[in-house]
Amino acid sequence: MFNILENQIGSRLLLPGNERYEETRKVWNTAVDKQPAAIVVCESEEDVSAGVKFAKENHLSISIRGGGHHVGGFAVCDGGLMIDLSQMRSVVVDESRQVALVEGGATLGDIDLETQKYGLAVPTGTVSETGVAGLALNGGLGYLRGKYGLTCDNIVGARVVTADGKAIDVNEENHPNLFWAIRGGGGNFGVVTKFEFALHNVGPEVFALDVMYDLKDAKEIIQKLQAFLEQAPDEAVSINLTATVLPPAPFLPEILHFKKVIMFTGIYAEDVSEGETILKPLRELAEPIMDHTGVMPFAEYQKKLDPMVPEHVRVYGTSLYFDQLTDEIIDQLLYKIYNAPAPSILVQLWALGGEMNRVPATATPYAIRDAKFVLLVDCMAMAGDDDLCKQWIDSVYGGLLPFSHKKASYLNAIGSNEEATTNAFQENYARLVEIKEKYDPENLFRHNHNIKPSK
Ligand SMILES: Cc1cc2nc3c(=O)[nH]c(=O)nc-3n(C[C@H](O)[C@H](O)[C@H](O)COP(=O)(O)OP(=O)(O)OC[C@H]3O[C@@H](n4cnc5c(N)ncnc54)[C@H](O)[C@@H]3O)c2cc1C
Repeated sequence: MFNILENQIGSRLLLPGNERYEETRKVWNTAVDKQPAAIVVCESEEDVSAGVKFAKENHLSISIRGGGHHVGGFAVCDGGLMIDLSQMRSVVVDESRQVALVEGGATLGDIDLETQKYGLAVPTGTVSETGVAGLALNGGLGYLRGKYGLTCDNIVGARVVTADGKAIDVNEENHPNLFWAIRGGGGNFGVVTKFEFALHNVGPEVFALDVMYDLKDAKEIIQKLQAFLEQAPDEAVSINLTATVLPPAPFLPEILHFKKVIMFTGIYAEDVSEGETILKPLRELAEPIMDHTGVMPFAEYQKKLDPMVPEHVRVYGTSLYFDQLTDEIIDQLLYKIYNAPAPSILVQLWALGGEMNRVPATATPYAIRDAKFVLLVDCMAMAGDDDLCKQWIDSVYGGLLPFSHKKASYLNAIGSNEEATTNAFQENYARLVEIKEKYDPENLFRHNHNIKPSK
């Protein structure tokens, strides 16, 4: 069956039994273990087109691997064709147009490395090994969201291989409906081989927050943070809180091993000395355990959290948005943290506001533009405790769902969940279905938060 495709792309086609097949089908979340019928390791748009045409003709579903980091493991599928973009990672800065041309398999680190040579940045996320494609297509929350919006808000054009295998330019003028759909509607509409992202002046040095407090002070700290955010400028609102249990790592003093802490990260997205003054109150919310806040290169800060997310982990995750963090929500969350089944948990509360929330809810598919916080929870399972992790994640989601904003979740942080999908898109869902019916009526691209054609 695969002879025709093999004639076209040769050794870039991997079938079960090929030694590279096993390695290539792995995704970041090792709890996902799926076996595609074949993998196309793409080196060009032509490879992508050949793979998509072949899948369509042979009625195979398609999974797309950008950076392979989605917690749901959507980059790989059972029995379908996996389009692997991990060899397509080039990033080119066009200074005259202030855009970055970024291939669909690039990571956030690839982008920062190139754009920071010019003192420019694309607003992306906070861990450098994450793929930009999945992140941008479903939103994209990073330290620049308050000042410059989400990653999807900064897509100004794309090259997309649609379900018929044709590559098209997509922007405000060409295929405007599809251009709208890819700015938040996920990988439902085709394979993005190249993005054009708007660039902004950032760094190279920024004032960066890095404070750690004892988790026992969390309630008071979160209340004070909310008061700070009420009056903070756009440059200072993108603050991330991470509650976790510190590992017994050699670089930490023994007294901190297994300690439950809450960390503050974020940058001041403008002048460095102004940042020092404006972010000062966030360093004095309680007695800090550690404070490494200071001036540092933006590209370096973008990698700061990398060591906290190990490769090859079995992960269960969930997410919810909130209007405000009431005492009831904070108490419930703290109870869950103190009663977590595994030591490796990450409970993150990210403040939302500024530019990302000024974009009208229907301007892009990403509809949740009026929440104040998003909760992102991950439980990393050790041997044998997968079920406990899953149950804990479900209990966090179920317990907090009634208090959440529009019962919506951040789709980049939650596995398959139909209700969460429609709730995330709100009134944009119907328009997304129409566009899906036009560009992918057979639902070839269904390994994602799927927008199902109604016919
Ligand atoms: C360690 C870690 C840190 C993270 N940090 C952040 C963060 O700071 N901010 C944030 O917003 N999110 C963050 N996330 C979540 C992240 O946004 C999602 O995991 C995102 O899906 C990653 O994109 P990817 O390309 O690596 O994913 P993949 O698993 O490769 O793909 C995810 C989805 O996108 C589709 N897709 C991928 N590439 C393409 C393409 N080229 N064309 C069309 N569809 C495509 C896939 O089909 C799949 O459905 C983080 C995740 C991890 C694991």
